[in-house]
Amino acid sequence: AQVVQAEFVKSSVRTEDCPPSDGIPEFALVGRSNVGKSSLLNSLVRRKKLALTSKKPGKTQCINHFRINDSWYLVDLPGYGEELLASCDDVYELSSYEVWLLNQMVINLQPMHQHGTDASIPAKPIDLEYASWLGQNQIPMTLIFTKCDKRKKKKNGGKRPEENVQDFQELIRDFFQTVPPWIMTSSVTNQGRDEILLHMAQLRNY
Ligand code: GDP
Repeated sequence: AQVVQAEFVKSSVRTEDCPPSDGIPEFALVGRSNVGKSSLLNSLVRRKKLALTSKKPGKTQCINHFRINDSWYLVDLPGYGEELLASCDDVYELSSYEVWLLNQMVINLQPMHQHGTDASIPAKPIDLEYASWLGQNQIPMTLIFTKCDKRKKKKNGGKRPEENVQDFQELIRDFFQTVPPWIMTSSVTNQGRDEILLHMAQLRNY
């Protein structure tokens, strides 16, 4: 399941410009801006800068296709929610459209430390909206909790990370036939990397 070859194929501003799928499995990385999509992608392919990482939210404005092991695609989509781009009216719409058109399997990212530190901020409405949309369109989703190295200890009545994961699952389970699989990750320690790659390999063979 390891990545032996990773090549940047193309940045597309619009869906029409994306490389033809030709039945090749595509995994879309989606999530709010700054959730750690680019970092995760770099971690998965063991390259420091294959995907551009930035400290500013909303920097990933294009649909970026990466061809892995010459047999499947990782697709970095623009972050949804928070930041609206000058080039498109609504990132959420764009990512939704994208996933729908390409029929990708979706790897949805949630920043663990946000859920882990403050029980009053569980999933944001935009996350639930997005998950609901995926469910309605029967697009399989895997939840990836990012930045797990940052998670803080329970304090001020906050919940433990595991509880937050459970809460999130509870919130979205009704959108899907089954509870979506979930994986805890960190791009700093590479926690979860092998698990994600194995999971993707299983989905490809499914
Ligand atoms: P994107 O906008 O979703 O592509 O997010 P980036 O990958 O650009 O990451 C946003 C910020 O979070 C950057 O400052 C990263 O260094 C930081 N970051 C990303 N992943 C991790 C992680 O696993 N652990 C920690 N501690 N920071 C991370």
